[in-house]
Amino acid sequence: MQEVRVRFAPSPTGFVHVGSLRTALYNYLFARHNKGKFILRIEDTDQSRFVEGAVESLIKALSWAGLDYDEGPEKEGAYGPYYQSQRLDIYKEHIDYLIEKGWAYPCFCSAERLDNMRKEQAARNEAIMYDGACRNIPAAEANQRMKSESCVIRLKVPQKGETIVDDLIRGKVSFQNNLIDDQALIKSDGYPTYHLANVVDDHLMKVSHVIRGEEWLPSTPKHILLYQAFGWEAPQFAHLPLLLNADRSKLSKRQGDVSVEDYQVKGILPQALINFISLLGWSKGDDQEIFTLDESIEYFTLERVNKAGAVFDIHKLEWMNGMYIRSLPEDEYVKIGLEWLERENLDTGDADKNKALVLSLRNGINKFNEIKERAALFFTDRLTYSEDAAGWIVKEESKILFQKMYDEIDQYPDLTLDDFKVLMKTVQKETGIKGKELWMPVRAAITGLTEGPELPVVISVLGKEKVKKFIKQAIDK
Ligand code: GLU
Repeated sequence: MQEVRVRFAPSPTGFVHVGSLRTALYNYLFARHNKGKFILRIEDTDQSRFVEGAVESLIKALSWAGLDYDEGPEKEGAYGPYYQSQRLDIYKEHIDYLIEKGWAYPCFCSAERLDNMRKEQAARNEAIMYDGACRNIPAAEANQRMKSESCVIRLKVPQKGETIVDDLIRGKVSFQNNLIDDQALIKSDGYPTYHLANVVDDHLMKVSHVIRGEEWLPSTPKHILLYQAFGWEAPQFAHLPLLLNADRSKLSKRQGDVSVEDYQVKGILPQALINFISLLGWSKGDDQEIFTLDESIEYFTLERVNKAGAVFDIHKLEWMNGMYIRSLPEDEYVKIGLEWLERENLDTGDADKNKALVLSLRNGINKFNEIKERAALFFTDRLTYSEDAAGWIVKEESKILFQKMYDEIDQYPDLTLDDFKVLMKTVQKETGIKGKELWMPVRAAITGLTEGPELPVVISVLGKEKVKKFIKQAIDK
C-alpha cells in the first residue's frame, strides 16, 4: 500500500488562525493514525504578504500544541520545514515544461486593461475571469515579447468539458471548464502563485492526501488540470468543513478570538484546545468528547469528518479547559498557576501562601487568566461583591451573623483553620443560623463571591486582620 504522506502548508500571515490549527491537527492525526508522515511546508512565495516573525510564531504554535512534523531539509541538526521561497528554481523548470507543452501561456495584458475588463464583466453580471486575450499569440511572437515585456504565465484551461473533484469528504463535485479561470501560475515578479507551487510540491513530496479547508475547494479543479498537464497522478483530496460563529456565519475575528495566540494568553491549555479543535468537524461516533492526543490518533478517520460547518462554541472550549485544569497533576497545576501569579504581579511574598492561594482557585477557574480576578481579594482592602454575594450580604439575618463573628474574632489571634471552625460553631450556636444561611453570607463577605475559592484556604491566606476587615465591610454595607 502507498505510504500515507500529508502536509500542512500554511502561508505565514502573522498569526495562526484556529482554522489553520484544525487543518494541521487533522493532517497530523491522519498521518499518525496511518503510520505515515506529516510534513510542514511554508508557502511563502507571496512577497507582498511577507510578515516578519510569522514563520517563527507558526512553528512555536505547532510545538506548543504538540504537533511535531517529520521531515524537511536538515538545518542545524534538526529537520527544518520546507520553504517554497527556497525552491524557486524547481517551479521555473516546471513552468517551462507547461509552456512547451501548450498548457500555459504568457499574458502581457496591463493591470489597467485587466481592471477595465473586470469592471465591464461586473457591469454585465458575468463571472470575473480572464478573457483569454493572450491565449492565442503565436509561440514565436510570445517568446520574443517575453524577452522585453513584463508578463504573467497563465494556465490554459480547456474551454470544453468538465473537471471533477472526487473528494473524500464531499463526494464528487464537478466544475464546468468554461467557468474555470486561466489562473496565473507565475506572477510578473517571477514568483510562482500558490497554485503552481502547491501542485508541484505536493507531487515532488509524494503527498498522498491533501487535507485542507473547504475554502480551497474551488481551487482544486485548477490543481487537477495541472496534474493532468504534467501527466501526474493527483493525490486524494479531503476538504474540511467551514468553522462557524455561534450564529452560523463564517468564523470571524469580529465575533471573538480566532488566533491560537489569543487563547494562549487567556490561559487555555494546549491539550484542551487540541481536544476541542479535534471535534470541530469530527466525532468518534458516540458521546465521548474528552480525548488524549493518543486517543484522537487512534480513533481519527476521514470517514467520520462531517460535511456540515462546525460551530466554534467558545463556552464549550472554556468548560473543557476547566476540566483539563482540574485533571492536571497537582504539581503541574501549581507550577502553571504560580507562573500566572507572577505574570500578573500577584505575589503574597510568601511561597506557601502563594501555593495555597493558587490551589484555592483551582475549582473556580476555567482559564488561567481568571486567576487575576479571582485572586484580587487577597490584594485589596475593600472587596467588590458579585450580584449574588451582595444579595446575601444585605439580608438582616446575615448582619446578625457578621456582627457575632466580628465580636468573637479577636479571641483567635492567629485564626488558624481549627480556630475558624470553632468560631463558626460558636456563631452558629449563638445565632441559631446554620447551613446555607450561614455559609453563603460568610463566603460572600470574605470572598465577594458565592462560588469559587475554598473558604478555609482563603482564610489561611488572608489572615485574621483581613478577614476581620472584610466582615466589617459586610456589616457596613
Ligand atoms: N498555503 C495555503 C494556505 O495558506 C495552503 C492550502 C493548501 O493546503 O493547499 O492555507
